Amino acid sequence: MDCIFCKIINKEIPSEIVYEDERVVAFKDTSPQAPIHFLIVPREHIESNDEVDENNYETIGQVFLVGKKLAKEYGLSKGYRIVNNCKADGGQTVNHIHFHLMGGRNMLWPPG
Ligand code: 5GP
Ligand code: ZN
Repeated sequence: MDCIFCKIINKEIPSEIVYEDERVVAFKDTSPQAPIHFLIVPREHIESNDEVDENNYETIGQVFLVGKKLAKEYGLSKGYRIVNNCKADGGQTVNHIHFHLMGGRNMLWPPG
């Protein structure tokens, strides 16, 4: 499958991995929008939040546990943001579900 995140997960192309387990992999975003900007990505190729269902929702729960762990490890004690962009209007550009973990600055709301 021609998916850049599958290739990163399978270590066919390089990335700066900060965490991995049997369900998810987290690596640095190549275009960081905050001092800390990681992508937390299920190993399973789920296209978007619209494909989350009763068979894979526990993996999405794991994403948030990993987000909490990484936030603590990287000193984001003042807070952080976890974001999923779904499909075109949501701003999704890579069609393998992923969650942005961002912190290290005061995140603005609402986003653009
Ligand atoms: P989206 O817009 O789909 O929510 O987010 C995709 C993210 O993936 C963007 O923040 C972009 O910078 C990041 N990205 C795209 N290609 C690569 C890549 O090859 N390696 C890494 N580490 N990040 C990527
Ligand atoms: Zn994929």
